[in-house]
Amino acid sequence: MTPLPASTLSRLECSNCGRVHEALKLQGLCGHCDRPLLARYDLGKAGATLKLHEMAGRRSDMWRYGEVLPVAGEPVSLGEGFTPLLRAPRLGANLGVDDLRVKDESLNPTGSFKARGLSAAISMARERGVAKVVLPTAGNAGVATAAYAAAANLEAEIFCPADTPVAFVQAMKLLGARVHLVDGLIDRCGAAAREAAAAGDAFDLSTLKEPYRLEGKKTMGYELVEQMGGCLPDVIFYPTGGGTGLIGMWKAFQEMEEMGWIGSARPRMVSVQAAGCAPMVRAFAAGATRAVPWENASTLAAGLRVPGAVGDMLILSCLRDSGGTAVAVTDEEMLAGVRLLGRLAGILAAPEGGATVAAARRLREEGYLAASDTVVLFNTGTALSYMDVLAGVPH
Ligand SMILES: *Cc1c(COP(=O)(O)O)cnc(C)c1O
Repeated sequence: MTPLPASTLSRLECSNCGRVHEALKLQGLCGHCDRPLLARYDLGKAGATLKLHEMAGRRSDMWRYGEVLPVAGEPVSLGEGFTPLLRAPRLGANLGVDDLRVKDESLNPTGSFKARGLSAAISMARERGVAKVVLPTAGNAGVATAAYAAAANLEAEIFCPADTPVAFVQAMKLLGARVHLVDGLIDRCGAAAREAAAAGDAFDLSTLKEPYRLEGKKTMGYELVEQMGGCLPDVIFYPTGGGTGLIGMWKAFQEMEEMGWIGSARPRMVSVQAAGCAPMVRAFAAGATRAVPWENASTLAAGLRVPGAVGDMLILSCLRDSGGTAVAVTDEEMLAGVRLLGRLAGILAAPEGGATVAAARRLREEGYLAASDTVVLFNTGTALSYMDVLAGVPH
């Protein structure tokens, strides 16, 4: 295995006001306008060694893209990323799409794509001298945090809603984290985590409140291009909670264009949300630039139960700039999607993954999708973590 390519991280830049922040310092939101910071790289230098057609022989995890990742030293790695892009012809035929593929993120460490973001964020936290991290979570991010904190020898304190599926809570505990069950939704957990961070000299790993989870998740965009031999699909369906992966892939496409991997064409990006928590769908339909938090959010897809996203402006501009759209599906439709992914593709999908099947069906019926479109669905996690929730559902 070749050594890890050197990071070309150059600075942090506010996604809203453009102010530049020091990348060598631990940073949260922009100190000026309270919006997310984005990592910027010396892409001229990165592109000199990171070449689309010279990737063979690199390590088979997301750190194969080391030039455009932030970590200077050894990353905290459990083998995250470089998940398969599976062809699913029977599911495609069922949906009326000739070329349907599933990016199967359930194969990541801890069973979801949250591993990518937390591998990057915890690597950077350790590199910047952090001893303790806190996090609000709906489940998967907490398990990933617990795992990477354990691997990095950091203390982790995690806040999740009291009704979080049992497997998540159990996994966090097995991985050595301190878990608090909070009476309320993720926003209440966020407040509790902020208090704990302020009181206990700990770093808050909430998504987009620090810049590096996004960097981990953007590698999904690099992998798509590499796995499709330099092409991009026509349409990407992404189950959207905080939107980190969507924003991350969009950023990756821009970086790849600057390095000459791809041209200026982009896939249409489709956000899929739950009918019981669809702030982006509502804001997109209204033509708004910001999303109003959703009241009484409710869905069994824990990862989609995010009433208000810090990255709302970035999500909405990505959907618009790509010619994409936003779709809400019911929990029943999601579960039907989970069953189809299982029976027609052999994929044990999380409800969030099932949601993308339901959205693709809807958009195919409405004519937004053509039979000839190349379509990628993201299955973001494994069904195994939701077995207690799924057990009560007829099938
Ligand atoms: C967190 C999560 C999502 C939402 O991801 P974002 O990038 O925050 O929008 C989707 N599916 C699963 C399984 C998740 O854990």
